[in-house]
Amino acid sequence: MTTLPADRHAARLAHAEAHARAQGLALTPLRHQVYAAIVASERPIGAYELLDALAPERGRMPPTTVYRALDFLVAHGFVHRIESKNAFVACCEVGVPHRSQFLMCDRCGATVEIPGAELADQLSHSAPAHGFEVHRQVIELSGLCAECARAAKDGAGPGEPPTS
Ligand SMILES: [Zn+2]
Ligand SMILES: [Zn+2]
Repeated sequence: MTTLPADRHAARLAHAEAHARAQGLALTPLRHQVYAAIVASERPIGAYELLDALAPERGRMPPTTVYRALDFLVAHGFVHRIESKNAFVACCEVGVPHRSQFLMCDRCGATVEIPGAELADQLSHSAPAHGFEVHRQVIELSGLCAECARAAKDGAGPGEPPTS
């Protein structure tokens, strides 16, 4: 059974709305629009791309307006910030406290969130042994997604049929 992306997006929005209601978080129309644009994006999306995506609905907004909405969405776990790209992805399990690692494709930009505290805990516990105080911990792995790895082997671009 396949689920259309639009249905998946609608389900994620509904889940986030329910979470916001349950937690008494104010998902204002702007925050909702920013979140919806991030959910709709298939890859991490930056603040300026978000401004472009929202322009038809909201007109030109100052970047700080979008940054404030992003701060809220990150602080409450609706989205994660991909540090190496200065971009944002929708969290795969809003409302469940977790730490995550990210697999990022260099070729198509697809990003997969892998929730799990084990690796993060191991790192943060071993840091003090090096006299290091951790302030922020982000684990991002770059490489090729399955589709792009296959395409690279076949010598074709993503989505193109093999040439041989
Ligand atoms: Zn997450
Ligand atoms: Zn890829």
